[in-house]
Amino acid sequence: MSRFTVPASSKSWLPVAAESDFPIQNLPFGLADPKGRNMSVVVAIGDWALDLSVLSEAGYLDGEEFPLLDSFIELGEGRLSDLRRAVYDLLEESNPRLRDNKKVRENALVPLEKANLQVPIPPVSFVDFYSGVHHASNVGKMFRPDQPPLLPNYKWLPIGYNGRASSVYASGTKIIRPKGQTKGANDAAPEFGPTREMDFELEMGFYLSQGHEAGKRVTTTAAEDHMLGLVIVNDWSARDMQRWEYQPLGPFLAKSFGTTVSPWIVTLDALEPFRIDGMAQDPAPLPYLRNHGKPHFDIGLEVWLKSAKMKKPQLVCRSNMKNLYWSLAQQLAHQTSNGTPVEFGDLYATGTISGEEEGTYGSMLELSWRGQQPITLDETGEKRTFLEDGDTVTMRAYAQGDGFRVGFGDCSGTVAPAV
Ligand code: MN
Repeated sequence: MSRFTVPASSKSWLPVAAESDFPIQNLPFGLADPKGRNMSVVVAIGDWALDLSVLSEAGYLDGEEFPLLDSFIELGEGRLSDLRRAVYDLLEESNPRLRDNKKVRENALVPLEKANLQVPIPPVSFVDFYSGVHHASNVGKMFRPDQPPLLPNYKWLPIGYNGRASSVYASGTKIIRPKGQTKGANDAAPEFGPTREMDFELEMGFYLSQGHEAGKRVTTTAAEDHMLGLVIVNDWSARDMQRWEYQPLGPFLAKSFGTTVSPWIVTLDALEPFRIDGMAQDPAPLPYLRNHGKPHFDIGLEVWLKSAKMKKPQLVCRSNMKNLYWSLAQQLAHQTSNGTPVEFGDLYATGTISGEEEGTYGSMLELSWRGQQPITLDETGEKRTFLEDGDTVTMRAYAQGDGFRVGFGDCSGTVAPAV
């Protein structure tokens, strides 16, 4: 598939700050519900959401090709790429068509804070992988101190589990502290109550652009042609519930109460300049899992934490997507290798993406090293091992280009008391 990359020198007639997530080189897609209008596919540019249904109605997009634009349905990857190219043409600084039509322009441009952004695609299925090797190895050290940090299968297959699609929420949705069974090491029996170890997991995710019937597989070569683009994913977790329930079948209620996705689908076209080889794989994967080309992306990741008492959030983690052991293509090839059917809009998350050093860990479990080393919130002097009610976790991600960044917007959620 040929990808449409906007030149680094290109500019829009709309002003875009250098540190904006949304220059003309990005043009990610979201789903908005601006007040008084209907649901519409939008594109982020600077501080604005460009309403594509308004453009379509006004005849600025090919009306036969893009008639409705009230959801992503029917917008497979090829069509999304065509649509992005058409939007690029309208926003490019030398094109007067939209720039000089005040009426259509003002109707189509919605300030980001008024866009009321939704989950871009409510997924039919949600898979969560475990491809961050430093996270997997840290968790191994904490949960199984007397064994090697990685289990023997880790470097042979991308570990994952089927998550819960019904609790995938838009950024800004409050996350209710879950109740569940927990059992202390010395307790005779478990108890039922609110988790005491509420956590976040810094992950990235991708949406599928097409489905297929049972018996088919997606190869690593074709995998990226099946992806609409990437989002940030916060896989909220309850560590005390997880520890008690996860063996032998894996996580269940400790993970299924809430997952937050960022509002913008950043296309692989926009991320093309940020491809990297990624980490070497040893042992070499089996043939069906072999990577091709540069399968990883250099995308900086951040987690910001703000308690109810704080005025400004504090940076608690700085990581990078290059910390993944398994590429996105390998994840999809593996998940479909048994012939399971998949559907348009299925969501896949990578697993927690921690770095190797202190300050690069993508969960409170690691940042506080299982609660043994609390982190201090400098503004108020508060301590944190796990998350308290009222804490807001905001994840950010961007690839840094020459004079511009391709960003994802905030993936944010606040912990609400158990009910
Ligand atoms: Mn996870």
